[in-house]
This record gives sequence, structure tokens and C-alpha cells, in this order.
Amino acid sequence: MIPFADHIAALTSHRDRELLDLALASSLMDMVQPCMVSIHRCVGEADDRHWLNRARLRSGDTAATSDRLWSDLDTLPRLESGEARFTALTEKRVVEVAGPPHRTYFPLFGGNDVAAVIEIETDAWLEESSQRIVEGVLRIYRNFDRLLDYSERDTLTGLLNRKTFDESFLKAITDLQVAPDDGEAGRRANGSGACGYWIGVLDIDHFKRVNDRFGHLIGDEVLLLLSRLMARSFRLHDRLYRFGGEEFLVLMRCHTEADAAQALERFRSNTEQFEFPQVGRVTVSIGFTAVRAGDTPSSAFERADQAVYHAKQHGRNQVCSHADLVSQGHLTDTTKVGDIEFF
Ligand code: GH3
Ligand code: MG
Ligand code: MG
Repeated sequence: MIPFADHIAALTSHRDRELLDLALASSLMDMVQPCMVSIHRCVGEADDRHWLNRARLRSGDTAATSDRLWSDLDTLPRLESGEARFTALTEKRVVEVAGPPHRTYFPLFGGNDVAAVIEIETDAWLEESSQRIVEGVLRIYRNFDRLLDYSERDTLTGLLNRKTFDESFLKAITDLQVAPDDGEAGRRANGSGACGYWIGVLDIDHFKRVNDRFGHLIGDEVLLLLSRLMARSFRLHDRLYRFGGEEFLVLMRCHTEADAAQALERFRSNTEQFEFPQVGRVTVSIGFTAVRAGDTPSSAFERADQAVYHAKQHGRNQVCSHADLVSQGHLTDTTKVGDIEFF
């Protein structure tokens, strides 16, 4: 067995949450020596929550398996379907189920209160000393997770920060490359070969006027309320970022361009209708684009930003598609590299 301190050092060496979960599973496997250890995360919205398996490791396995991070919610088991897991999660307590194999479920709450349950399968009941080891490791994991969360998020709004976007974006591209069936879905998306990931860049209209008229503090409150509107308007799976100032970004997984446009339009409309305390009505201009194979975070961002610019030049308070603007001759596709092969 590897010394405890080495496990903790390995666990706290990862900034990537996927690797962190894999390290957690293999540490628990080595320290407790169960038949199986599995990490289930809770994903989805309030009334439509599902289990996403982040790492499953059986005794003797050399590598853990997991569900894909961006799996469609409908393909994942519903939260209520894992009865003991569900109890551990909702009652925030350890749950034991007689076997064989015996199963012990440990709840885990991270920095952003993302809930997960650790499932451990053993031939006999998990001993108290082993339970204490698991609980100790989970406490360390939780503390580390909070620190990670702090470095990934914008302090005013709690949304993810720009640095985190670059990492998520590259992971999304990799995800496309290892999932050829997504390519088909992408080709079905709009017939032009766009993939199933989209980014939308959102910029508040005339925000300087808000600051000038009501002051910076009220301006900040608008930013905070807008970030909450974003969280309510987009799906939980979508990644929301504050890119700096009054500029936001959303990274979405959609089946079609129309789906992406609809989600962004919903947010635009929700913003337009929201009564911001003291300030009143505020609007946003949005530009969006499909993520392409070969894209870098900045090339995709540049396309969406060009579409925002067009929206600003043509009356603001609207959603503009980069692809539409190119096909209508309003924009030139400056990020197209030779004959890019799309997914
Ligand atoms: P446009 O419709 O063309 O976007 O007009 P705008 O006034 O919103 O112009 P622009 O996007 O260039 O202005 C950004 C302004 O946002 C400038 C600055 O006063 C304000 N701002 C940037 N960061 C913050 C912040 O953290 N808090 C507050 N209150 N204001 C910010
Ligand atoms: Mg701006
Ligand atoms: Mg602005």
C-alpha cells in the first residue's frame, strides 16, 4: 500500500477536476482495498437531475472508466433511480446496504456545492477504521476542491473566469475528437459541418451609462444580477464565464444551430424583461459561433466577438450568428484555416 501522505500529495497535485476524481478513486482503492469504488456526480436541473459517473475502478483494473463529461442528460440514470445513493446525497449521511457485495455510500459536497456520492463495494461490511479513512480523504478532497473553485471563479459573480474557459474549451475539442459519433450529430446540425459545441459572447449595451448615472457599485450589482439571470436562462450543463468587465461567455452543447440561437435568444429576452433595481431595463448584444475542429479558444472567441460587434452596429439588443453574417456577406470568415476538416 502506498503511504497515506503520498496519496494526499497526488490528490492535491491536480488542477483538472477529471484527473482529480480519478486520483480520488485510485487513492480510495489503494487505501481501503474494496472490490469497486465509484464516484457519481449529480448533474441537471432541480426537477431533472441525473447521475454522471466520474470514475469507476474495480480491484485489479489498471484504468478507471467514466461517463463522458458532456453526456446528454437523457442518457444518464435519473437521481431517484439510485435509491441508496439518493438517500446518501439528500440526507447527507453515510448509507450502508447489505450485499453481497456490501455497498457503502459517502456524500461529497464540493466548493461550489456540486454534489457527488462515493460508492464503495466490499465483500464484507466496510470496517469502521476504513470508513474513517474514506471520510478523512473526502475532507481533504473537499478543502482542495474549494481552493480550486476559488481559483476558477470570478469573485464578483461566481461565474467561471477566462483562464478556466481556455481549459474547458480545449477539453471540449478533445471530447469531440474522441467521440466520432458526435461528428455525425455535428454534420446533422446545420449541414455545413459545424460541431455540437457553441460559444456565445454577451456584452451589456451602454453599460458605461449605467456606471455614469448610478455609480460603479450599482453597476456591479447589475453584473451580479445578470450572472444570476444567465444561470437561470441556460441549462446547468452549459458553462458560464465572466470574461472581464461587462462581457460574458457561454459554452454550450447543442444539437443544432437553431437550438443554440434559441437558448441565447431566451437569455436576451429574459434580460430585456428583467427590472433591475434602481436601474430599470438593461439589454445585451450577443454573438455566437459553432466551435470547429482546429479552433483555438481565441479563434472561436474572435468569430463570436465579430458577431457581437455587428449586433452593436445594428441596433444592439439582438442575437447574431457568425455563420449567418458570413453567408449574408456581412462578415468575412477570418479564422478559417485552409480546408479545415469539420466534425
Ligand atoms: P456598448 O453598448 O457599445 O457595449 O457600450 P458600453 O457602454 O457597454 O461600452 P463598453 O462595452 O466598451 O463599456 C464597458 C464599460 O463597462 C466600461 C466600464 O465602465 C464598465 N465596466 C467594466 N468592468 C466593470 C466592473 O467590474 N464593474 C462596473 N461597475 N463596471 C465595469
Ligand atoms: Mg464591452
Ligand atoms: Mg458593453
